[in-house]
Amino acid sequence: MASSRNEKQPHAIMISMHLQGHIIPYINLALKLASNGFTVTFAHLEFTHHHITTCQDQTKGIDIFSEARRSGLDINYATISDGFPVEFDRNNNLDQFLESYINDFPSRVDEFLGQIMRTHLSWDYEYFLVADTFSFWAAEIAEKYEMVSVSFWTEPAIVFSLYYHLQLLKENGHVPVNGRQEEVDYVPGIRAINTKDFMSFLQESELTLLHRAIFGAFDDVKKLDFILCNTVEELEAEAVSVLQKNRPFYAIGPLFPLDLQKVLVPRSLLPELDCTEWLNTKASGSVLYVSFGSLATTEKNVILEIAGGILLSGVNFIWVLRPGIVGSDEDGMLPDGFQDRVKDQGVIVPWCKQWQVLSNPGIGGFLTHCGWNSVLESIWFGVPMICYPLFTDQITNRKLVVDDWKVGLNLCNGKNITREEVVEKIGTLMDEEKSFKLRQEIKKLRNTLQNASSEDGSSERNFARFVEDLRYKVLTKRESSRS
Ligand code: UDP
Repeated sequence: MASSRNEKQPHAIMISMHLQGHIIPYINLALKLASNGFTVTFAHLEFTHHHITTCQDQTKGIDIFSEARRSGLDINYATISDGFPVEFDRNNNLDQFLESYINDFPSRVDEFLGQIMRTHLSWDYEYFLVADTFSFWAAEIAEKYEMVSVSFWTEPAIVFSLYYHLQLLKENGHVPVNGRQEEVDYVPGIRAINTKDFMSFLQESELTLLHRAIFGAFDDVKKLDFILCNTVEELEAEAVSVLQKNRPFYAIGPLFPLDLQKVLVPRSLLPELDCTEWLNTKASGSVLYVSFGSLATTEKNVILEIAGGILLSGVNFIWVLRPGIVGSDEDGMLPDGFQDRVKDQGVIVPWCKQWQVLSNPGIGGFLTHCGWNSVLESIWFGVPMICYPLFTDQITNRKLVVDDWKVGLNLCNGKNITREEVVEKIGTLMDEEKSFKLRQEIKKLRNTLQNASSEDGSSERNFARFVEDLRYKVLTKRESSRS
């Protein structure tokens, strides 16, 4: 039987983006909301569901939250079509996919929400929307259904701030960057940043549909009720504090819900290889982990120079060489005979359990593209980095890691990569004495992250404040719509 209006339970509707670096923290957020007493309906795109549930045999066809539900969390799972068959190759038909996704997907979300609202359950629940900040459709949908809205930002606060102050940057002639290198000191909460460190989407002068969607999402974010950011207040104190003055902005990272880590929620789009057995045979701190994440592509030359550098350095390594990283020329990605020559030195895998790899004592360094999740995970496990950013926020994240926090080294300033510099940087990173300062600094940051995540740490306090503010907002919105 339907409950009375006063007993309505706040219920989060979460529609996931299809990118790996967004899926992982978004699922963690769903678990965290549910463990704080919210009901959650979580939807993946159909093809995301297909990839997640077919890449590991044991998860074939399952509801990804079934174990979470068994553990007592109230999470429903649904899928939503993006209009293409699951087999459609979105990466190799990116323009076609994006055009349809940007133009047609909002009406699919609308239909999905309409269906939920029409069911009898809507009498029992007070719905609110939790969408990735890049979800350019969120403000319109929230307005249509008169829902409280929460925007979830999976990148650092300074990256949010640069997008948020886009108009200011344009007025000052700093966006598009167009290859200039100038110091910018007027963005609120960012003391100084060189234009070369702006995200790639601010560098380019030709605006694609994707640029417009991203910039539109940041215009709209001003209409949303709450912003959650997967960062830590103490890591980005100035940027966070200024954003908090403008908007209800909460730094709640790193979103690794440790108490829920044992709840199995499949979230990988590719089969994950387990490298533990191999890693356990290696001396502590002797292995370099190399990965450029789930999305970035690069040129074959970059792979060849890294391979050359790894070989010359003699370092033990795990290298994630994702299919598609150099486009279609995959057969010849590595130098002839490379695999044979390094067979005692390292392993090359298409994808691995990164969390598990970074947590292994064998790992002594991470050559990374500076994806934000990778940066947070590396700090969490106290692993210093060599940074080779490729695009989007990775460029700006490098500035944080190398220039501000001093827990990483630049590699070839992001271009003209040479094997000589690869060897040099590996030599510095993996040598205890030469990397002493980096390791000292990363220990401090690791403590900062762990303290923020502890029971009375800043991120937990911010999350608790958000939960309280959200419940109040949901209640007052309902009352104001009744009067
Ligand atoms: N990851 C993984 N296995 C791999 C490579 C990456 O599980 O072989 C995970 C990694 O732990 C991180 C995410 O995929 O949580 C990648 O996100 P990130 O923001 O670092 O980079 P993106 O893929 O978005 O560029």
